[in-house]
Amino acid sequence: MIETKNISFSYQEFELPEELNPDDSELVLAAREAASNAYAPYSKFRVGAAVRLESGIIVRGANVENAAFPSGICAERSALSYSISNHPDDKPIAICIASMRKDGITYEPPSPCGNCRQVIAEEESRTGNKIRIILSGKNKTIIIDSIICLLPLQFNKENLKVNLP
Ligand SMILES: [Zn+2]
Repeated sequence: MIETKNISFSYQEFELPEELNPDDSELVLAAREAASNAYAPYSKFRVGAAVRLESGIIVRGANVENAAFPSGICAERSALSYSISNHPDDKPIAICIASMRKDGITYEPPSPCGNCRQVIAEEESRTGNKIRIILSGKNKTIIIDSIICLLPLQFNKENLKVNLP
């Protein structure tokens, strides 16, 4: 028997920065600051990520490119690697992503790549916490409750459970 199932999710969209709550606004500013520190001489697309931990600490990351392209890292994974390395027991509760081109903050909010979605999913799985995802563009901000919306049917630790003899 074939069953057709639907996956849908809702998210919030804001036009004006003033519409965001103070915590989210603070995270947007931190992500924009981080983007300005990116090392992106090849793509010229600078991305910043800011992760808020349960304690209130904000950790920043930026994309760091490399002449050997696969050696580069995205801002989201840069920030999460830092938070896990330095604050392993302080769980991330939100991540904001912002991007810049030569002429400033991009109008459209950036969206995490597939690799970063997988890493955010792993962090939700590791900590048992949902991570609020804030995608910040110049005149549009999108807020999503959890990575499950951006990575449904995800591969995670449950898939690795095997029955050993
Ligand atoms: Zn990425």
